[in-house]
Amino acid sequence: MATKKQNEDITKNGDIIEDEEFGYSKIEIFHPKDTKKLAYHYKEILKILGENTDREGLEKTPLRVGKAIQFLTHGYNLNPMDIITSAKFKEEYKQMVLVKDIELYSLCEHHMIPFYGKAHVGYIPNKHITGLSKIARVVDAFSRRLQVQERLTTQIRDCIQEALEPMGVAVVIEAHHMCMQMRGIQKQNSVTTTSAFTGAFLNQNQTREEFIHLIGAKLH
Ligand SMILES: [Zn+2]
Repeated sequence: MATKKQNEDITKNGDIIEDEEFGYSKIEIFHPKDTKKLAYHYKEILKILGENTDREGLEKTPLRVGKAIQFLTHGYNLNPMDIITSAKFKEEYKQMVLVKDIELYSLCEHHMIPFYGKAHVGYIPNKHITGLSKIARVVDAFSRRLQVQERLTTQIRDCIQEALEPMGVAVVIEAHHMCMQMRGIQKQNSVTTTSAFTGAFLNQNQTREEFIHLIGAKLH
């Protein structure tokens, strides 16, 4: 469920529509014009796959998929820098701030198939902090796009580094890739871990080790 602030951000570029198709109220984020175009093309794709697009179960599928793909990529409408700087506060706190187990859902840009998992983000403030929820929203803003896990990790790190200029930033992402699990390799339980550090997390082994210990990730 999108937050009120998130909705305000999105409304700048699109529309928030209450969709009660599934019997409960939820917020859909989509542009009606794009939905029509996407639905047209998804219908063509279904035909190429050999489906009968007139059968009852598929009648509204192109439209639903057109809406769904826009929600799954709504990060394009969000500005991660703005998210952080909108809640940037002066503060003398100089210990590590850690937000762990941030839920993450993204689409691999090679297959447009989901990868999902957890992000752990730490930083050591240098005169400025941000709202804890903003960290989670930055993860969302970058992950709700076509991505590769490696770039997602460094984008989150660089955004926080640039916005807050802290003593250091640490980002670790642990994710399952459906494109590995469902196709080809089929390594069902493999988890891909990526990490990106700046400042104290890069230069001080002790600081980095503390972060890794706190998030409980299996890193070398
Ligand atoms: Zn893939």
